Amino acid sequence: MVQFSDVPVVGQVGYIEVNTAFQNDVSPLKVDLIYGTFRSEDGSIYLLPVVKRAENMVVNDTLNHDYLSPTGIEGFSKSACRLLLGDIEKLWNDGKVFGVQSIGGTGALKIGAEFLSRHMNCTTVYYPDPSWEMHGAVFSFSGFQNKIQYRYMNRETLEIDFEGLCEDISNAPVDSVVILHACGHNPTGLDLSKEQWRTIAEIMKERKLIPFFDIAYQGMASGDIEEDTWAIRHFHSEGFEFLCAQSFSKMFTMYNERVGNLTIVQKSGHNIGSLKVHIERIVRSLYSSPSNHGAMAVFQILSNPELYDEWSSSFKAMAARMIELRKAFRKALEEEGAFRKWNHITDQKGMFILLHLTDNQVEYLRNFHHIYMVNSGRVNVTGLNFTNISYVAKAIIDTLR
Ligand code: PLP
Repeated sequence: MVQFSDVPVVGQVGYIEVNTAFQNDVSPLKVDLIYGTFRSEDGSIYLLPVVKRAENMVVNDTLNHDYLSPTGIEGFSKSACRLLLGDIEKLWNDGKVFGVQSIGGTGALKIGAEFLSRHMNCTTVYYPDPSWEMHGAVFSFSGFQNKIQYRYMNRETLEIDFEGLCEDISNAPVDSVVILHACGHNPTGLDLSKEQWRTIAEIMKERKLIPFFDIAYQGMASGDIEEDTWAIRHFHSEGFEFLCAQSFSKMFTMYNERVGNLTIVQKSGHNIGSLKVHIERIVRSLYSSPSNHGAMAVFQILSNPELYDEWSSSFKAMAARMIELRKAFRKALEEEGAFRKWNHITDQKGMFILLHLTDNQVEYLRNFHHIYMVNSGRVNVTGLNFTNISYVAKAIIDTLR
């Protein structure tokens, strides 16, 4: 008989291990650059005031805690799809666009991966090298046999390896799923230009590949919610069928409410009923139905013009803070160590800076300077502030010497 003690020993997942070490560190110097949570200047996790207001409205309006349907709150999903694609009224009514409320962006990826594996017989997924660490795991746990990373960042120049990217996806077999970060690429902060997106769309159309967008930082790359969906809207206008996993964790500073949405765009809506039933079955087998509170707060904001304006304009300030921190960090590094170029820090966009450090360097920063980041030296920009920036810059230069 099998025994629990026979289960192979494994190490903790990278992020969790680093976070545990951070929590156990008693040094007053310690700096948390680990997770992608938006921090205020004093280091605390920021909560958008408009979210607090919307949450209070939800609490006041809640009459009971009846179950939601497996696909969640329809109005919420429709608003989420609208946020991605603009006016979808007719497409929604025709069954060409539909959405499923999910447990965060991760849940949306999971539902999509299960659907593609079970009902579209997809077995191969391509995702960037490097990428957010869960992409490979979600797809292999959903039955994808082939996980292939396409070239994305040139590790010498710290720029996009566009030639490598094009070559790799040009060699992908028909019906491969290709994960594309729509904006604010995690962890590199490097986004494709519009011209490059056009080329990728051409290759994918020619090779008959299935786009699966992942958007977790809408508004946080450019400061403009619509601008950050440009790539998705371009693929839509080119007539692709595709999926998109939306995470509302960062966009609404609500990480533990687990709000997300899976958008599915198809050419013909005639099969919409069956598609929904397949998705419902997947959700039923995973967690039966999603939870209410966070999604209702998001729905309030997306459907109330006054709250929406307040929320959408907050990205300007958030993006501006990240740009300001990038500039200050680059300046501090340049002042401390002119022997290396630091332009990538201000060239990259969004929440993350990839310092491209070795495992030993990341460990050294942790053990000797109490500075915590995940592998390759990915830094949450907002974990920096005007109190710790020069300390962090000095420590990085010391580590590189
Ligand atoms: N996709 C990317 C690119 C992310 O960076 C993240 C979170 O860090 C997610 C998806 C998952 O989002 P959520 O926390 O909403 O599950």
